[in-house]
Amino acid sequence: RRPARPRRDLVCPRLVAPCSHKHNPSIRVMQWNILAQALGEGKDGFIRCPLEALSWHERKYQILEEILTYHPDILCLQEVDHYYDTFRPIMASLGYHGSFLPKPWSPCLDVEHNNGPDGCALFYRRSRFSLRSTAHLRLSAMMLPTNQVAIAQTLRCQVTGRWLCVAVTHLKARSGWERLRSAQGADLLQSLQSITSHCGGQKQAELGAIPLVVCGDFNAEPSEDVYRRFSSSPLGLSSAYKLLSCDGKTEPAYTTWKIRPSGESCSTLDYIWYSHDALSVETLLDIPTEEQIGPDRLPSYHYPSDHLSLLCDVSFREEPHRLL
Ligand code: NDP
Ligand code: CA
Repeated sequence: RRPARPRRDLVCPRLVAPCSHKHNPSIRVMQWNILAQALGEGKDGFIRCPLEALSWHERKYQILEEILTYHPDILCLQEVDHYYDTFRPIMASLGYHGSFLPKPWSPCLDVEHNNGPDGCALFYRRSRFSLRSTAHLRLSAMMLPTNQVAIAQTLRCQVTGRWLCVAVTHLKARSGWERLRSAQGADLLQSLQSITSHCGGQKQAELGAIPLVVCGDFNAEPSEDVYRRFSSSPLGLSSAYKLLSCDGKTEPAYTTWKIRPSGESCSTLDYIWYSHDALSVETLLDIPTEEQIGPDRLPSYHYPSDHLSLLCDVSFREEPHRLL
């Protein structure tokens, strides 16, 4: 028998006064690069992960178990190459609405016996939100279309009546592509600016911009230009996971940790960004320790992806001019 999967605690960040209450319950957001099946078995070369742990039969239950354990209201996934045959039907039966956008030239298609292209998927719980609009974006860099995509949806919260824009993306991987990532980030920010400032007949100028949550595998450490762009944009975004640190200013040490033939790679690439003036982060799912991850790193029998899931509860801050 395998030992039990290590537990991850939900922690309340210091220095945050809760805003949620009965009429303003928090919204649970999950971000996860689940590792495309075709890439994990066919391209990544995770030499310390047992082959059986990489099989879809094994991984799909682990991924679904993790999602079901936390029961997010919003679920943002990258590297989804089993949308139509697995995630859409299962998530629909659990009360979620789903949207999927494949990469134009997914590297999964180069792998023999692939299950189609990988892409980003965005799910929301139908009992919590109704859908106002969806934008399927192909990210550009220096006016040229790239192989990376994003989905942005404007939702209306059924409990509070308030609007929320949620976006999911997966930026270009690998070192040497920092400038492309930065340009992709700039393009995404521009699209989000336009989506959150005009909205279907509403006088948004009077109400203020729609609060925003952006989840993604940015493939960029916090030292990269694209990170700086997001943290200093006019949209007023903060990265939720900084709140796990003692000073509230430091990202976790890693969100992915893997061993390939080329060596070990431990880095912070995944983020949940949120509008800091409109939303408050009340809970975060802790990052497993090095001991919990184990000497063979990720993926493993306990962790089905080379990326960790990120999870937080956010709530709307009170609007001074609006009574709930
Ligand atoms: P990216 O460079 O963004 O990476 C694609 C995937 O590879 C990501 O999911 C990434 O995972 C993973 N990856 C990152 N580093 C490594 C590594 N060292 N070893 C193995 N996998 C890794 O890819 P693009 O979207 O730019 O697509 C590139 C591929 O797409 C090409 O290799 C080609 O196969 C295909 N392509 C085909 C075209 C055609 O004309 N047919 C045109 C364009 C692309 P993570 O994000 O988790 O790091
Ligand atoms: Ca990957």
